[in-house]
Amino acid sequence: MSFPYKKIDNTDIEYIKSCLNDGKCFVGDEIPNEYYHDEMPEYGIFKPDIYVEPLNATEVSKIMKYANENNIPLTARGAGTGLAGGATCKYGGIMLSLMRMNKIIEVDEENLSMTVEPGALLLDVAKEAMEHGLFYPPDPGEKTASIGGTVITNAGGMRAVRYGLTRDYVRAIEAVLPNGNIVNFSSNVVKNTTGLDVKDLIIGSEGILCIVTKLVLKLIPKPNVSHSLLVPFDNLEHCIKTVPKILASSVVPTAIEFIEEELLEICERTLGKVFPDRSGSAYLIVMIDGSSKQAVESDCDIVAEICLNAGALDVLVCDTEERIGSVWSVRGAVLEGMKADTTSEEECDVVVPRNKIAEYVLAAKEIAKQHRVRIITVGHAGDGNIHTEILRDDLTDEEWKVTTDAVLRALYAKSKEMGGQLSGEHGVGNGRLKYLKDFVGEEMYDVYKNIKLAFDPNLVLNPGKVIEF
Ligand SMILES: Cc1cc2nc3c(=O)[nH]c(=O)nc-3n(C[C@H](O)[C@H](O)[C@H](O)COP(=O)(O)OP(=O)(O)OC[C@H]3O[C@@H](n4cnc5c(N)ncnc54)[C@H](O)[C@@H]3O)c2cc1C
Repeated sequence: MSFPYKKIDNTDIEYIKSCLNDGKCFVGDEIPNEYYHDEMPEYGIFKPDIYVEPLNATEVSKIMKYANENNIPLTARGAGTGLAGGATCKYGGIMLSLMRMNKIIEVDEENLSMTVEPGALLLDVAKEAMEHGLFYPPDPGEKTASIGGTVITNAGGMRAVRYGLTRDYVRAIEAVLPNGNIVNFSSNVVKNTTGLDVKDLIIGSEGILCIVTKLVLKLIPKPNVSHSLLVPFDNLEHCIKTVPKILASSVVPTAIEFIEEELLEICERTLGKVFPDRSGSAYLIVMIDGSSKQAVESDCDIVAEICLNAGALDVLVCDTEERIGSVWSVRGAVLEGMKADTTSEEECDVVVPRNKIAEYVLAAKEIAKQHRVRIITVGHAGDGNIHTEILRDDLTDEEWKVTTDAVLRALYAKSKEMGGQLSGEHGVGNGRLKYLKDFVGEEMYDVYKNIKLAFDPNLVLNPGKVIEF
C-alpha cells in the first residue's frame, strides 16, 4: 500500500460522515483556506479532500482505521500554529482536527495532575491550573496552540531554562494508532519501567506515529513571585556572553531571552509596540520566579551584579504586572513584527550548546553578509535555541529559493560543527524535511524510518513529514 494514495470518493465521504455523531465535516471546496497551511504557508499549501472534527477517541479510531485499510492519507490537526508545515495534507486525504475534543476533564490536587483532551488550548490549561493554586510551566510563545499539538511537538518556549520542556510535564498519553487501536502510554504515575518507554517517543513525534486523544499532565505548585530584569548592553557579543555566567551562578532563572535593537525597531514600526527602554543595542530579558519576594529579590541582585560586571549598561527591575507585561509582550510579538516587515521569511530554529551562542550568532551574521540577505536572530538564549529568521524583502522567487537553501545549509553546518542540532523546538515537519537526512546521517535516518514503519506500515499517517521514504 501507500503511494499513490487512493483518491477519496463519495463512498469514502459517506462512510467518514457516518463515523461522526455530531462532529463538523467539510468536503472539497467547503474547506476554509486556513486549513491548507499552518503558521508557515512558506512550508506548503495543500488542500485536504475532507476535513472532520470528531468528538471522541472512538470516532477518531473509526476514521483512522478506515483510512489505513483504504490507503487514504490522514493528518491530525491541532490549532494550526505550528512553524514547520506539519499539520497539512501534503497528499490530500483526510484532515482530522482535534479542536472539538477540548475538555479539561479533571484536576487531581492529590496527584498534582490534570487530565485533558488534546484540543484544549494551552492558555486554558495554564489558567485552570492557576485556579487550583497549581502551575503548568511549559510556555511556548503561542498560547492558542492546542495542548495536544504542544505535546506532539514537544514544544519548548521561554520557561524551559528552569522548568524544562513539555516532555517533562506529560505523565500519560491515550492515543489512536494508525490501525485504529486505542492505547495508553503510561498512567498517572511519577515513575515507570514497565516495558518500553514509548510515551517519550510519542512526545515530539510530530503526528507521524499516532493521534493523541487524551493526556495526563503533571502540575507543580505555583511560584508565588515573579520578577523580570531588562538588561541593556552596548553590543550583542557582551550581551550573549553574559548568559553562561548567569547559568553558572547559584540562580536558576526561569527564562533568559535576548533581543536586538533592530528587532525592537521593527516591532515599534510594524506593530506600534513600545519597549520600556531604548538605551541598548542588545538586551537580555531575565525572568526569575520563586516562593517569596525576598528569595526572588536576592536572586535578582545576584543576576544584576553578574550583568553589570559583564558590561551591562544598566539593570532595570520589572516587578509590577504592567512593566513585566510591557517587556514580554514585545518579546512575544517578534514573529508577527518580522512577518509584517518583509514579504516572506524562512525560519531556522537551531539549538547549540549554551557556551556557543555568541559564536553562532556572529557566524549567522557573517553568513547573512556573504549571501547579501537580511537575517535577524532572536531567542531563547538560556537554552541555546536561536531563532534565525531569514527575511526575503525584494528577492525574486528564484533568488529567494537559491539564497534560503544556501543560507540554511550554511547555518545547519555551523550548528553541527558546534555540536548543535537542526531544530530546538519547532520540529522538522515539511519545512526542514530535506535537511534532516544530511544532518543526522544515513544510519540514524534508517532508525527513524524503522520506527515509523513499526507504527504505520502503510504510511498513511501524516505522510511526507519529518522523514521521506
Ligand atoms: C507566534 C508563535 C510563537 C511560537 N512560539 C513557540 C515557542 O516558543 N516554542 C515552541 O516550541 N513552539 C512555538 N510555536 C509553534 C507552535 O505554537 C507549537 O509548535 C505548537 O505546539 C503547535 O500546536 P498546534 O495545536 O497549533 O499544532 P498544529 O500546528 O495544528 O500541529 C503541529 C503538528 O502536530 C500534529 N498534531 C497536532 N495535534 C495532534 C494530535 N492531537 N495528535 C497527533 N498529532 C497532532 C500535526 O499533525 C502537526 O504535525 C510558536 C508559534 C507561533 C505562531
